[in-house]
Amino acid sequence: MFKESSHIIAGISTKVDGNMKLDSSSVSDPAAYNRQLFFNRRGFSDRPIISAGLVHGRRVAVIQATDPGGTVPGYDALITDGKGMMLTITVADCLPLYFYDPVKSVIAIAHAGWRGILDNIGGEVAASFKKNYGSQLSNIQVVIGPHLQKCHFEVQDDVASRFAANPEFIIKTDRTFIDLSGLVRRQLVSAGLADNNIRVSGECTYCLTDKYFSYRRDKGELKTMISYICLPGKE
Ligand SMILES: [Zn+2]
Repeated sequence: MFKESSHIIAGISTKVDGNMKLDSSSVSDPAAYNRQLFFNRRGFSDRPIISAGLVHGRRVAVIQATDPGGTVPGYDALITDGKGMMLTITVADCLPLYFYDPVKSVIAIAHAGWRGILDNIGGEVAASFKKNYGSQLSNIQVVIGPHLQKCHFEVQDDVASRFAANPEFIIKTDRTFIDLSGLVRRQLVSAGLADNNIRVSGECTYCLTDKYFSYRRDKGELKTMISYICLPGKE
């Protein structure tokens, strides 16, 4: 996934892995079971799994190496230098942003929907690398994972108007679409990252019916993928 991918465990689940959306109101949560199976199959059953609570905000939680795992409510991004910590978010159209600083050995993951992108969550994560770990921004690598691409992120005028400051990412035909990953890339470069350190997946969650859940395509059905990143170690 990253340029120096051999050092990093990262990816996203697909439909065959089942629904990964945790439902804390359910006593016997099938998604929790699916998650455990998913990480077991990959041989990661012994690691603390930390999940961002997701509120379409921009806050970044710093996760210590001693964290036992669990959900971190009120956050959309997680960052750590702890080895073996599995950082996760769930997505089903929103953009999963994976971050890696190979020099400081720090990772982060962020859940970026259009609201979080308007709040520049990517730039917030970049700032967190610098503030908490002294990262050089030019060293940070980013991968933007599968998401609702500009072929399918159609918006009405109310949402389009929120992007008026970034007209180059608004595509107008007889309908209106927004190129969210294009905007995130520009925000990251504005934050100080190198353009050639940013990779964007071409996969669209809506287009790939057999591979991914899509909130938009599935008409609000609450099924999601899990995106994860982990610094290996302790082995
Ligand atoms: Zn599409």
